[in-house]
Amino acid sequence: MSKIFDIITHPNPKLRKKSLPIEENEIKDKKTQEFCEDMIQTMIKKDGVGLAAPQVGINLRFVIVTTNGEPICMINPQITKRSWARAWDEEGCLSVPGIRGQVQRNKKINCIYIDTEGKRKKIIAQNLDARIIQHEIDHLDGVLFIDKTKKT
Ligand SMILES: [Zn+2]
Repeated sequence: MSKIFDIITHPNPKLRKKSLPIEENEIKDKKTQEFCEDMIQTMIKKDGVGLAAPQVGINLRFVIVTTNGEPICMINPQITKRSWARAWDEEGCLSVPGIRGQVQRNKKINCIYIDTEGKRKKIIAQNLDARIIQHEIDHLDGVLFIDKTKKT
């Protein structure tokens, strides 16, 4: 049975901490696999399209993102390339309930990460997928989308 985590909300200070990388030897640990599965189930249950570990109070560089409609676990993700082209679109966040806002993001990104089997992966994402990845990786650096919304 998967565990459904409680999601912490702004202004909880854990959302503002910079998260630490997961050690290479911990990645293949069964606990990491279970955490991944619990995070996916939590995201689905809460109707999210992404979830970062700090949102469940764990300051580690671990995110779940939905790409091509499928949830994937990314460990120690890093954006290695960003398109010059950027786009505005509306975002929300499970940790900032009731608020939505326009955020500008790079349209296309390259991202490297480690999967739960310890394999190095690279993904090229665009549009909504790229937006979700950028939003989730921001969480690992203590950044929320409300820091970036268009001020009118
Ligand atoms: Zn968020």
